[in-house]
Amino acid sequence: MDSVEDILGQAGAAIDAAADTRALDEARVVFLGKKGALTGLLRSLGDLDPAERPQAGALINDAKQQVQSWIDARARQLSAEQLTESLSEETVDVTLPGRRQDQGGLHPVTQVLQRIEDIFVGAGYEVVEGPEIEDDYHNFEALNLPPHHPARAMHDTFYVDDGKVLRTHTSPVQVRVMESGQPPIRVICPGRVYRRDSDITHTPMFHQVEGLVVDEGISFADLKGTVIDFVQRFFEKDLAVRFRASYFPFTEPSAEVDVECVQCRGEGCRTCSQTGWIEVMGCGMVHPNVLSMSGIDPERYSGFAFGFGADRLSMLFYRVDDLRLFFENDVRFLAQFN
Ligand SMILES: [Zn+2]
Repeated sequence: MDSVEDILGQAGAAIDAAADTRALDEARVVFLGKKGALTGLLRSLGDLDPAERPQAGALINDAKQQVQSWIDARARQLSAEQLTESLSEETVDVTLPGRRQDQGGLHPVTQVLQRIEDIFVGAGYEVVEGPEIEDDYHNFEALNLPPHHPARAMHDTFYVDDGKVLRTHTSPVQVRVMESGQPPIRVICPGRVYRRDSDITHTPMFHQVEGLVVDEGISFADLKGTVIDFVQRFFEKDLAVRFRASYFPFTEPSAEVDVECVQCRGEGCRTCSQTGWIEVMGCGMVHPNVLSMSGIDPERYSGFAFGFGADRLSMLFYRVDDLRLFFENDVRFLAQFN
């Protein structure tokens, strides 16, 4: 019976020392488990004198109940401690302002491109896209720019392997359209183009939109009407537009288009370098060589083409004076266009 006292003493110490529920369960196995100390004592009752067995058995069962009640008490204590601990660690300050999700928006150049597409689609044009890695033939040769043509030097081209280039303009898309079908043709080709150039108004990648109309009896008057109508719809203002004679290898005659400065309305300011005019696009009548190289009869059909930088129009439209801001992806800048 001394050993019951001993076991109770050890059990009490072990249960008190149990720091968590796992340690407590280990203590339960040691004293009450199938191979535990008190269970072992019950088994050894058979060795006692039959007269002593009932008293000894009762003593051991009392001890088992005692140990079980200590374990239960310690378990309640441990779970209370754990609750207090997690409450103090996982505090929620209900007075803090909530975290809101930021609303994203379309990039300003994307918005301008969509605006341009809407205007032309409304006028019956189809929107066409083409590859950004283009072969030399479509980017230059089919546009009346044979090898060694001096105008090639103006393009500051990025060359890729095997006679491929990053397209320097979206004009090759026009060539692909003319190759794949006969007039009437009425398309715009928006997309990214690439040139080795970087300063306040140039970035190595920029967005161009080109338009092409080919049909019987298309004249320069149709071109002028289209360009003036587009500019005035785009800026939602009755801006003056002027055409200056110019040169492009793929159009003849060719012209540059200036619009009255959107900032000063012709008075003269920094945006227009005090001239009152801003250059916005190049255009002209499609060169007969370009038509015939793409399988269109220049005796029967004529056409006009125009091209402009969507980024430049975005700068004028939103009055941003540094083109690079559009591509630096500073969220503080971009969020102003949401
Ligand atoms: Zn101005």
